[in-house]
Amino acid sequence: AQFFDALGDVQSDSLLALIAMANADTRPDKIDVGVGVYRDGAGNTPILRAVKKAEQLLWNSQQTKSYVGGHGDRRYTELLRPIVLGRHADDERIAGLHTPGGCGALSLGFKLVAAAHPDAKVHVGTPTWPNHVPVIEAAGLNIVQYPYYERLQTCIRFDAMMAALESADRGDVALLHGCCHNPTGADLSDDQWRQVVDVVSRRGLIPFVDIAYQGLGRGFAEDAAGLHALFDACDEVIASQSCDKNFGVYRDRVGSLWLKTGNAAGTKRAMDHVVQIAREMWSMPPDHGAAAVRIVLDTPELRADWDAEVGEMRDRINRIRGAIAAADPRLAYIGGQFGMFSMLPVTPEQVRKLREDHAIYMADSGRFNVIGMADAAIERFIAAVVETIN
Ligand code: PMP
Repeated sequence: AQFFDALGDVQSDSLLALIAMANADTRPDKIDVGVGVYRDGAGNTPILRAVKKAEQLLWNSQQTKSYVGGHGDRRYTELLRPIVLGRHADDERIAGLHTPGGCGALSLGFKLVAAAHPDAKVHVGTPTWPNHVPVIEAAGLNIVQYPYYERLQTCIRFDAMMAALESADRGDVALLHGCCHNPTGADLSDDQWRQVVDVVSRRGLIPFVDIAYQGLGRGFAEDAAGLHALFDACDEVIASQSCDKNFGVYRDRVGSLWLKTGNAAGTKRAMDHVVQIAREMWSMPPDHGAAAVRIVLDTPELRADWDAEVGEMRDRINRIRGAIAAADPRLAYIGGQFGMFSMLPVTPEQVRKLREDHAIYMADSGRFNVIGMADAAIERFIAAVVETIN
């Protein structure tokens, strides 16, 4: 036997298998709503106009590719601050750090939790973004599930979620999606957020908010309203943020980690640990994507154009949601959900039929990317789904 034979086989990632299957399908009108990237009316995932211009400016002006340091691009973090923190931007108990994407921020945040409290349990909604689980486990933390969404009833299991959080132990971490819940599209209402904020603060839980789609749901301030309410109510808050969707820079890996503790000195001390943990993980974050984001946010014309383009993306998402919702009463719930994903009330057998009979590719869970289809495909998608669920 060879040295690495000890590893055995990897359990195949079903989403990657789905992407491969969709790529291999030669039917010209195939629709791939499995993978989670934005697509425009023509079916492309474009580089945003402002980002393209910022990259040109960067290419012209950049004089060195020397190391950026453990904090990454500090100006990037500073410019992101009012967007992520809103009215809390001036709170010196909150600090942020540039990370490689939202994934990097999640890993770093959970490693910080584990460094402080290796026995803390992390309460995670069911279902959640599947990668949350290995990231938390890799930090050495234990996961406790709380009910979040009932797929066939198409509703949030709010009472069960609240009951679970009520019985969590003080010092446990509660992972919450800031907006545009992945995979369900089901976001907490304002009133539900109030109740969650109440239980989290009353029970002494540490909220960990994952906000990867800010601006793509209702708007920048609205999408962070839950996070901001937690900053109001809690002395200790963690947030992982991603620019990969709202700047369309997926492969450039652009994100940030935010931390609030009870006082500025405590936050500074914890952030020193964060930088040290990052040093052991990736040493320093990649610079290019964050530099482009920084230039967009620092250049008024580019910033205005970016704002407009995020608005166009959001409107397109919500327009397609409206069209699907209007097609059948059983799909009406999709109009009240947000972000790139929703789940259809379909069986794996029906998912297979959609794939084989209609060349429509989605995960077995019925999760589909609402804006994964070109304009020309919307009608056909809706007709196939309505036929399948009836
Ligand atoms: N959190 C959620 C809920 C996500 O859906 C994603 C990306 N699919 C991420 C975090 C990570 O984003 P990134 O690509 O920036 O690492």
